[in-house]
Amino acid sequence: MAVNMAQETRQETGEVPPLDPARIRADFPILAATVHGNPLVYLDNAATTQKPRAVLDAIARYYTEYNANVHRGVHYLSQVATEAYDEARRKAAAFLGATVDCEVIFTRGATESINLVAHSYGRQHVLPGDEILITGMEHHSNIVPWQILCKESGATLRVVPIDDDGNLIMEEFDRLLNERTRLVAVTHVSNALGTVNPIRDIAAKTHAVGAVVLVDGAQSAPHMPVNVRELGCDFFVCSGHKMYGPTGIGLLYGRAELLDAMPPYQSGGDMILSVTFEKTIYGRLPSKFEAGTPHIEGAIGLAAALDYLNAQGLDRVAAHERGLIRYAESALRAVPGLRLMGAPRQRAGVIAFTMDAAHPHDIGQVLDEAGVAIRAGHHCAQPVMKRFGVPASARASFGLYNTRDDVDTLVQGLHEVNRIFA
Ligand code: PLP
Repeated sequence: MAVNMAQETRQETGEVPPLDPARIRADFPILAATVHGNPLVYLDNAATTQKPRAVLDAIARYYTEYNANVHRGVHYLSQVATEAYDEARRKAAAFLGATVDCEVIFTRGATESINLVAHSYGRQHVLPGDEILITGMEHHSNIVPWQILCKESGATLRVVPIDDDGNLIMEEFDRLLNERTRLVAVTHVSNALGTVNPIRDIAAKTHAVGAVVLVDGAQSAPHMPVNVRELGCDFFVCSGHKMYGPTGIGLLYGRAELLDAMPPYQSGGDMILSVTFEKTIYGRLPSKFEAGTPHIEGAIGLAAALDYLNAQGLDRVAAHERGLIRYAESALRAVPGLRLMGAPRQRAGVIAFTMDAAHPHDIGQVLDEAGVAIRAGHHCAQPVMKRFGVPASARASFGLYNTRDDVDTLVQGLHEVNRIFA
C-alpha cells in the first residue's frame, strides 16, 4: 500500500503523465459505435468492460496461428499454445503480486473462484459451530456459496452491517470476529456502492483469530494496483471480463500452502499425476484445480488485457478514474431530485443513485435512447438495496476510457428524465 501511495503522490505532483483517454479510446473499436443514432457512452463497466484491439488480436492470433490443446501434445502447435497458456499464468501471478505462479488458478470468473474455495477449503475446514463472516455489501456470488457451505456444515453465517454512507461498520466487524470464525469473505470494492474496504486491517484482524480471509476483487482489480501480499489476503478472486479481457476466464489467487493442502474442486483429465481403478494421485498446483481442457484463448486474451493495463499503469488508471468520479459526484448532486446511494469514505469505479421522478429502469431506458449505457436493477446485491430501502438503483460505472464528456452526456440524459417524468 505504501508503494501505491507513493505512486499516487507522483501522479499528483505531475511526475507521471496522466492518462490520455482520447488515445486510449482509439484502442477500443466498439467505442466508435452509435446507439439509437447517438455516439455510445459506455458507463456499465462494473458489469463488463469493453475490449481493446490488443485483446481481440491476441485471441484471433491464437486461433489463426497456434490453436492446439495444451499440456498434451508433443507437436509444435501444442508446445506454442502451452507456452502461451503458461505465460498467461506468469503474467497473472505478477499482476496480483503472487509469490509463485502456481498460486494462480484459472477459473471461469470470480464466481467460480469463490465456489472453488467454498467447496474445497470450506468443506475441509468449516465444521458445526464454526462461523463465516461476510459483509452487508457483498455481491450474491460472495453470499450464496457461503450460505450453502453453512447449511451443509452446520456453521453460522454472520454479516457485518454497513452504515448510511455505505461504509463497513468496523466496530461491528471487531465485535463479530471471534475464535469461532473460520473464514472472512469480503469485497475489496462494492459493486453496488463503490465503497473501498480496509482490507489490510481486516486481514490482520482475521489472522489474529486464526481465520483466513478471501477478498472478492472483481471490482478492484480493474481500477487500482493490487498486491495480494501487501493486502495480506489468503485468497483473492477476480474476473477477466471486468478487466478488459474475455468472458469465461477468471483468477483465483491462493497462498501456496493453503492450495497445496486443499482437495480438488472438480476432477477428470489434466488434474492427475496417475490414475488406476484403485487409486488416483492428484497433480501438483496449479493443475490439481484445473480439470479438463482449460479456457486457453481466455487465458491468452486475459494476459493481453493485463499487458494493456500494465502499459497504461494501474496507478495512472486509478488517478484518472478518481478524478472522473469526483467530477461525476458533484455533477450528479446538481441534478434536481437525484440522490446518491451512499457516500463512502473511499470510492472506486461505481456511483449508484435514485431519482424522485423515475424508477431506475425508466432512467436506464431514457439514457439508452441517448446512447448512454448504465445499469438499472439490484446489481446482484439485493441485501444492499434492502439496507437502503430501495428495490433497485441506477448505476454508472467507469473505466479507463471514460471522459468528462461521458459524464456530461449522462447528466444531460438525467435532466431529460426529469423533463419527461417530473
Ligand atoms: N463480485 C463482485 C463484487 C462483482 O461485481 C461480480 C460481478 O458483477 C462478481 C463478484 C461476479 O463476477 P462474475 O459474474 O464475473 O463471476
